[in-house]
Amino acid sequence: MDDKNKTRYFRYHLLKWFEVNGRNFPWRREGVTNFELVFSEVLLQRTRAETVAQYYPVFFGRYPDWNHLIQATDEELEEVFKPLGLYKHRAKRMRKIIDEYKLKNGELPKNRDELNDSSFASLYTSNAYELFVLKRRAPLIDVNMSRLLKRYFIPGEVQDVRNDKKIQELAKKVTNVKACKELNWAILDFSALVCKVRNPLCEECVLRFKCSFQK
Ligand code: SF4
Repeated sequence: MDDKNKTRYFRYHLLKWFEVNGRNFPWRREGVTNFELVFSEVLLQRTRAETVAQYYPVFFGRYPDWNHLIQATDEELEEVFKPLGLYKHRAKRMRKIIDEYKLKNGELPKNRDELNDSSFASLYTSNAYELFVLKRRAPLIDVNMSRLLKRYFIPGEVQDVRNDKKIQELAKKVTNVKACKELNWAILDFSALVCKVRNPLCEECVLRFKCSFQK
Protein backbone atom coordinates (compact mmCIF):
# COMPACT_ATOMS: atom_id res chain seq x y z
CA MET A 1 0.00 0.00 0.00
CA ASP A 2 1.49 3.37 -0.94
CA ASP A 3 1.63 6.37 1.34
CA LYS A 4 -1.43 8.02 -0.15
CA ASN A 5 -3.60 4.97 0.28
CA LYS A 6 -2.34 4.40 3.78
CA THR A 7 -3.24 8.01 4.66
CA ARG A 8 -6.68 7.70 3.03
CA TYR A 9 -7.31 4.49 4.95
CA PHE A 10 -6.31 6.18 8.20
CA ARG A 11 -8.61 9.16 7.68
CA TYR A 12 -11.57 7.10 6.49
CA HIS A 13 -11.52 4.63 9.37
CA LEU A 14 -10.90 7.23 12.03
CA LEU A 15 -13.75 9.47 10.87
CA LYS A 16 -16.10 6.45 10.79
CA TRP A 17 -14.93 5.43 14.26
CA PHE A 18 -15.44 8.99 15.52
CA GLU A 19 -19.07 9.11 14.35
CA VAL A 20 -19.88 6.33 16.80
CA ASN A 21 -17.26 6.69 19.52
CA GLY A 22 -16.28 10.37 19.59
CA ARG A 23 -16.27 11.96 23.03
CA ASN A 24 -18.81 14.62 23.82
CA PHE A 25 -17.01 17.57 25.40
CA PRO A 26 -18.56 21.01 26.07
CA TRP A 27 -16.12 22.74 23.68
CA ARG A 28 -17.31 20.50 20.86
CA ARG A 29 -20.97 21.49 21.11
CA GLU A 30 -22.77 23.49 18.46
CA GLY A 31 -22.70 27.24 19.04
CA VAL A 32 -19.52 27.34 21.11
CA THR A 33 -17.77 30.71 20.74
CA ASN A 34 -14.22 31.16 19.48
CA PHE A 35 -13.35 32.47 22.91
CA GLU A 36 -14.44 29.16 24.46
CA LEU A 37 -12.71 27.10 21.78
CA VAL A 38 -9.38 28.84 22.21
CA PHE A 39 -9.39 28.97 25.99
CA SER A 40 -10.49 25.34 26.24
CA GLU A 41 -7.31 24.51 24.35
CA VAL A 42 -5.28 26.67 26.74
CA LEU A 43 -6.83 24.71 29.62
CA LEU A 44 -6.23 21.39 27.87
CA GLN A 45 -2.47 21.79 27.83
CA ARG A 46 -0.93 19.07 29.98
CA THR A 47 -4.36 18.19 31.38
CA ARG A 48 -6.76 15.34 30.68
CA ALA A 49 -9.79 16.32 28.61
CA GLU A 50 -12.18 14.74 31.16
CA THR A 51 -10.72 16.93 33.92
CA VAL A 52 -11.10 20.07 31.80
CA ALA A 53 -14.70 19.08 30.93
CA GLN A 54 -15.61 19.03 34.63
CA TYR A 55 -13.93 22.35 35.23
CA TYR A 56 -15.33 24.00 32.09
CA PRO A 57 -18.51 25.49 33.68
CA VAL A 58 -16.42 27.00 36.49
CA PHE A 59 -14.06 28.84 34.18
CA PHE A 60 -16.54 29.91 31.48
CA GLY A 61 -19.21 30.69 34.07
CA ARG A 62 -16.82 33.22 35.55
CA TYR A 63 -15.21 34.39 32.31
CA PRO A 64 -17.74 33.98 29.49
CA ASP A 65 -15.88 36.40 27.19
CA TRP A 66 -12.92 38.74 26.86
CA ASN A 67 -14.66 41.58 28.68
CA HIS A 68 -14.88 39.50 31.81
CA LEU A 69 -11.45 37.90 31.47
CA ILE A 70 -9.50 41.14 31.11
CA GLN A 71 -10.79 42.31 34.48
CA ALA A 72 -9.36 39.31 36.34
CA THR A 73 -6.66 40.01 38.92
CA ASP A 74 -3.62 37.73 39.41
CA GLU A 75 -5.00 36.47 42.73
CA GLU A 76 -8.34 35.68 41.14
CA LEU A 77 -6.70 33.79 38.29
CA GLU A 78 -4.63 31.68 40.68
CA GLU A 79 -7.70 30.99 42.76
CA VAL A 80 -9.80 29.98 39.79
CA PHE A 81 -7.10 27.66 38.39
CA LYS A 82 -6.43 25.90 41.68
CA PRO A 83 -8.79 22.94 41.12
CA LEU A 84 -7.11 22.26 37.79
CA GLY A 85 -3.52 22.08 39.07
CA LEU A 86 -0.42 23.91 37.76
CA TYR A 87 -2.32 26.99 38.86
CA LYS A 88 0.62 29.40 39.12
CA HIS A 89 1.84 28.48 35.67
CA ARG A 90 -1.65 28.78 34.15
CA ALA A 91 -2.35 32.10 35.87
CA LYS A 92 0.94 33.51 34.59
CA ARG A 93 0.22 32.35 31.05
CA MET A 94 -3.28 33.81 31.17
CA ARG A 95 -1.93 37.09 32.49
CA LYS A 96 0.44 37.28 29.54
CA ILE A 97 -2.40 36.71 27.09
CA ILE A 98 -4.61 39.31 28.81
CA ASP A 99 -1.84 41.94 28.93
CA GLU A 100 -1.03 41.43 25.30
CA TYR A 101 -4.68 41.62 24.33
CA LYS A 102 -5.02 44.93 26.18
CA LEU A 103 -1.82 46.29 24.69
CA LYS A 104 -3.10 45.58 21.20
CA ASN A 105 -6.45 47.21 21.95
CA GLY A 106 -8.36 43.99 21.72
CA GLU A 107 -6.91 42.96 18.36
CA LEU A 108 -6.32 39.22 18.13
CA PRO A 109 -3.77 37.71 15.71
CA LYS A 110 -5.10 37.66 12.13
CA ASN A 111 -2.57 35.37 10.52
CA ARG A 112 0.17 32.86 11.25
CA ASP A 113 2.93 35.50 11.51
CA GLU A 114 1.00 37.54 14.05
CA LEU A 115 0.18 34.32 15.84
CA ASN A 116 3.83 33.35 16.07
CA ASP A 117 4.59 36.71 17.69
CA SER A 118 1.77 36.40 20.20
CA SER A 119 1.19 34.75 23.58
CA PHE A 120 -0.64 31.92 21.82
CA ALA A 121 2.65 30.90 20.25
CA SER A 122 3.13 27.39 21.53
CA LEU A 123 2.82 24.75 18.87
CA TYR A 124 -0.38 23.30 20.31
CA THR A 125 -2.22 26.54 21.10
CA SER A 126 -1.28 28.30 17.90
CA ASN A 127 -2.50 25.36 15.86
CA ALA A 128 -5.75 25.37 17.83
CA TYR A 129 -6.09 29.11 17.23
CA GLU A 130 -5.44 28.67 13.54
CA LEU A 131 -8.00 25.87 13.27
CA PHE A 132 -10.81 27.37 15.33
CA VAL A 133 -10.44 31.14 14.97
CA LEU A 134 -8.71 31.62 11.62
CA LYS A 135 -10.70 28.66 10.22
CA ARG A 136 -7.67 27.16 8.53
CA ARG A 137 -6.51 23.58 8.48
CA ALA A 138 -4.02 22.74 11.25
CA PRO A 139 -3.19 19.71 13.40
CA LEU A 140 -3.95 19.77 17.15
CA ILE A 141 -0.67 18.03 17.70
CA ASP A 142 0.00 16.80 21.21
CA VAL A 143 1.73 13.78 22.65
CA ASN A 144 -1.28 11.49 21.96
CA MET A 145 -1.65 12.48 18.34
CA SER A 146 2.11 12.11 17.86
CA ARG A 147 2.08 8.62 19.32
CA LEU A 148 -0.75 7.41 17.07
CA LEU A 149 0.84 8.88 13.94
CA LYS A 150 4.19 7.42 14.82
CA ARG A 151 2.82 3.95 15.49
CA TYR A 152 0.63 3.80 12.42
CA PHE A 153 2.89 5.45 9.85
CA ILE A 154 6.49 5.04 10.96
CA PRO A 155 8.09 1.66 11.63
CA GLY A 156 10.92 1.64 14.18
CA GLU A 157 11.82 4.00 16.99
CA VAL A 158 11.42 7.77 17.30
CA GLN A 159 12.86 9.18 20.52
CA ASP A 160 10.86 12.31 21.25
CA VAL A 161 7.70 11.91 19.21
CA ARG A 162 6.11 15.29 19.89
CA ASN A 163 9.15 17.33 18.90
CA ASP A 164 10.09 15.22 15.91
CA LYS A 165 9.86 17.40 12.79
CA LYS A 166 8.89 14.45 10.64
CA ILE A 167 5.85 13.77 12.80
CA GLN A 168 4.85 17.43 12.81
CA GLU A 169 4.96 17.46 9.01
CA LEU A 170 3.03 14.22 8.89
CA ALA A 171 0.36 15.61 11.24
CA LYS A 172 -0.07 18.62 8.97
CA LYS A 173 -0.38 16.45 5.88
CA VAL A 174 -2.78 13.92 7.41
CA THR A 175 -5.17 16.55 8.83
CA ASN A 176 -5.20 18.60 5.63
CA VAL A 177 -8.79 17.68 4.73
CA LYS A 178 -12.16 19.43 4.64
CA ALA A 179 -13.26 17.69 7.83
CA CYS A 180 -10.08 18.88 9.54
CA LYS A 181 -11.67 19.71 12.89
CA GLU A 182 -13.48 16.35 13.12
CA LEU A 183 -10.41 14.41 12.04
CA ASN A 184 -8.33 16.16 14.70
CA TRP A 185 -10.87 15.27 17.35
CA ALA A 186 -11.07 11.71 16.03
CA ILE A 187 -7.30 11.33 16.32
CA LEU A 188 -7.24 12.75 19.84
CA ASP A 189 -10.09 10.50 20.99
CA PHE A 190 -8.77 7.40 19.29
CA SER A 191 -5.29 7.83 20.73
CA ALA A 192 -6.76 8.33 24.21
CA LEU A 193 -9.20 5.42 24.08
CA VAL A 194 -7.69 2.81 21.73
CA CYS A 195 -4.10 3.55 20.79
CA LYS A 196 -3.24 4.18 24.42
CA VAL A 197 0.24 4.79 25.67
CA ARG A 198 0.32 1.45 27.52
CA ASN A 199 -1.47 -1.62 26.26
CA PRO A 200 -2.96 -0.27 23.02
CA LEU A 201 -6.07 -2.21 22.01
CA CYS A 202 -4.61 -3.49 18.75
CA GLU A 203 -6.84 -6.58 18.49
CA GLU A 204 -9.97 -4.44 18.17
CA CYS A 205 -8.39 -1.50 16.36
CA VAL A 206 -9.89 -0.36 13.04
CA LEU A 207 -6.41 0.50 11.76
CA ARG A 208 -4.73 -2.79 12.68
CA PHE A 209 -4.38 -4.21 9.15
CA LYS A 210 -2.27 -1.28 7.98
CA CYS A 211 -0.54 -0.23 11.18
CA SER A 212 3.26 -0.24 11.32
CA PHE A 213 3.43 -0.78 15.06
CA GLN A 214 5.22 -3.91 16.21
CA LYS A 215 4.44 -5.01 19.74
S1 SF4 B 1 -3.04 -1.34 15.69
FE1 SF4 B 1 -2.42 -0.84 17.78
S2 SF4 B 1 -0.69 0.52 17.59
FE2 SF4 B 1 -1.70 0.45 15.60
S3 SF4 B 1 -3.08 2.20 15.62
FE3 SF4 B 1 -4.22 0.43 16.32
S4 SF4 B 1 -4.06 0.46 18.56
FE4 SF4 B 1 -2.48 1.81 17.72
